[in-house]
Amino acid sequence: MLKDQDRIFTNLYGMHDRTLKGAQARGHWDGTAKLIQQGRDAIIDTMKASGLRGRGGAGFPTGLKWSFMPKESDGRPAYLVINADESEPGTCKDREIMRHDPHTLIEGALIASFAMNAHTCYIYLRGEYIREREALQAAIDEAYDAGLLGKNAAGSGWDFDVFLHHGAGAYICGEETALIESLEGKKGMPRMKPPFPAGAGLYGCPTTVNNVESIAVVPTILRRGAEWFAGFGRPNNAGTKLFAISGHVNNPCVVEEAMSISFEELIEKHCGGIRGGWDNLLAVIPGGSSVPCARGEDMRDAIMDFDYLRNDLGSGLGTAAVIVMDKQTDIIKAIWRLSKFYKHESCGQCTPCREGTGWMMRVMDRLVQGKADVEEIDMLWDVTKQVEGHTICALGDAAAWPIQGLIRNFRGEIEDRIKANKTGRMGALAAE
Ligand code: SF4
Repeated sequence: MLKDQDRIFTNLYGMHDRTLKGAQARGHWDGTAKLIQQGRDAIIDTMKASGLRGRGGAGFPTGLKWSFMPKESDGRPAYLVINADESEPGTCKDREIMRHDPHTLIEGALIASFAMNAHTCYIYLRGEYIREREALQAAIDEAYDAGLLGKNAAGSGWDFDVFLHHGAGAYICGEETALIESLEGKKGMPRMKPPFPAGAGLYGCPTTVNNVESIAVVPTILRRGAEWFAGFGRPNNAGTKLFAISGHVNNPCVVEEAMSISFEELIEKHCGGIRGGWDNLLAVIPGGSSVPCARGEDMRDAIMDFDYLRNDLGSGLGTAAVIVMDKQTDIIKAIWRLSKFYKHESCGQCTPCREGTGWMMRVMDRLVQGKADVEEIDMLWDVTKQVEGHTICALGDAAAWPIQGLIRNFRGEIEDRIKANKTGRMGALAAE
């Protein structure tokens, strides 16, 4: 289990003072100017050596992403945009940082922006996060008053401004180019890539979009060193990580743990076990609603990191939002609910996603009730394959994968329900 002295987020539960004074007492904003004076290359090298992979879901190496930004300005400004549009069902980790530990995010924003030659950072906040906005804005105001932001921020010689932008509540704005469009005042619709944001992002200028957690861990990594951070987890899966465990565990929680912890240890140590015991575990979605679900019996020994969950389990770590479902769950209906979500949130720009999400949801409607033919399961599988990888942004994949996980792991349940419906042995199960 991660030791207390190795925790980056020391006020995750809001038990301590979240103001600047409290944050400073816990070690934030300590020698920030010195960290910056190491210089751009040294900071990026440390981030690369730390092995930090983006915490927003895709797991792209953060240091490498930063290195894509132009070293010299061609006259255009550069921007850091922090993606705080945390809207994926099950994912609720960044909000804990923003409302209880906001200063580590703001300090990280300064350092990361400096490393990418950006004098301005925008934090794009999920529309529904009202209290988080208030807490974050209060922290930003405090930091300005204390000279930690603005001209010569924190005495570093770097001029730096942070703007908080409150979204309007669209899931798709968590996609980085849709987020940029929305920031520019347009409809939040993903852009075709290339060009990538590092070449032409916000207002056509070099931009890096990073997740809240990815930026909030930066100051501590620089203070404690890349080796310290890289010492947690298996190779290529370094660091500590916020896990958000919800569903049928005795004590749902958000907790910082070392990467590559086993699922069993995570659940036993922090969540008080599975509701009704391990034999009652049906399924787990280990990384937020867009990754495929796994069968409970395959999860017990699972290693909670990017590589194991993708390569060995055919799922993904995603945002590490772990959704646990026990045997009382109607798994078909649970996945149908996600289909409904993705259909609702599709921006409608590309045909496979716009039409496919609706199509998949309607078949899922019938599968919940068993009103289908067994052959339609394969047809549904084919449709998910035609959506996956054929769309402008990853929402198409996100809509396809939960259904693929369901068919791969719970085909028997779907067939049973169809047979039960045909023979009239069905309870009153109906999609709402
Ligand atoms: Fe919009 Fe869906 Fe296409 Fe993404 S995949 S651009 S959400 S229609």
